[in-house]
Amino acid sequence: MSLVELSGVVREYGRRPSLAGGGAVRAVDGVSLSIAAGQVLGLVGESGCGKSTTGRLALGLETPQAGSVRFAGQAMPPPHGAAWRALRARMQMVFQDPLAALDRRLPIATQIAEPLVIHAIGTPGERAERVAALLRAVGLGPELGGRFAHELSGGQRQRAVLARALATRPAFLVCDEPVAALDVSIQAQVINQLAELQAAEGLAMLFISHDLRVVRQLAEVIAVMYLGRVVEQGRPDAVLARPLHPYTQALVSAIPGKHRGTRIILAGEPPDPARRPPGCAFAPRCRLAEPRCHATAPALRSLPDGRRVACHLVGDDALSTRPAGAG
Ligand code: SF4
Repeated sequence: MSLVELSGVVREYGRRPSLAGGGAVRAVDGVSLSIAAGQVLGLVGESGCGKSTTGRLALGLETPQAGSVRFAGQAMPPPHGAAWRALRARMQMVFQDPLAALDRRLPIATQIAEPLVIHAIGTPGERAERVAALLRAVGLGPELGGRFAHELSGGQRQRAVLARALATRPAFLVCDEPVAALDVSIQAQVINQLAELQAAEGLAMLFISHDLRVVRQLAEVIAVMYLGRVVEQGRPDAVLARPLHPYTQALVSAIPGKHRGTRIILAGEPPDPARRPPGCAFAPRCRLAEPRCHATAPALRSLPDGRRVACHLVGDDALSTRPAGAG
């Protein structure tokens, strides 16, 4: 059973009169995703593809104009109401910039305890014990609890943010580019820490990143987004070994040591959700586009191996007849 379920979710923002047609910006356009308890779903795509908005929808921080979001079988309550605030103890988020997420005026230990105070969990003594355990769990020494955010390194700050996110023992965590601001050497440490904690706590996670290399280390399922829609979804080993959507093929070909042939360079500009082309949104940058691609948007279809792909050129026979990495 799904812990978190997004069904046909649409999120639009205000109109831009400067644009021809003045259309609303559709950041998320009919996304359906399901995350089981203890499962990690990696959401990948370029900046502006709608993955962060999807994360906010999954947490109920935003309300979709169409479709539905369910948590533990219940409809997500309206944001910031009493029912939603009560749920927040079970759903947490880790952002890209730990310095922005932390209060510079409060010691780290006080901030890690904050969610426990807000949700009235435990006595002061029990909270202190929990904070000490969380500091240990994220690999921070107890002496660091008395320090302020500016006295920590970038990696230590993100570990502190992670400790605070885990304080209430949430069932669901959204991590939005949690290591993108860290040095590469520190990224690996934080990812490993996150993987250990996820397994130990049985956390369901929506892990958002522009980087497939990072996502594949954690995710049991990868969903690739392009211009507000999921274009391919499947198990990491299958998607990485044999990407079927031309956009996924380009992303995989950019992973060092992963591509067997020539790297596929994406032509054109990154997508602008305010300027959605007719037909397949990827068509202006797709090296395989056909006339029908510019006229009709491909549906997201399920293949026999459980993968889902939205491309006119990928049919039921894709897994047996299409060579890996071929268009
Ligand atoms: Fe490319 Fe056409 Fe497939 Fe879109 S539907 S990804 S344009 S081949």
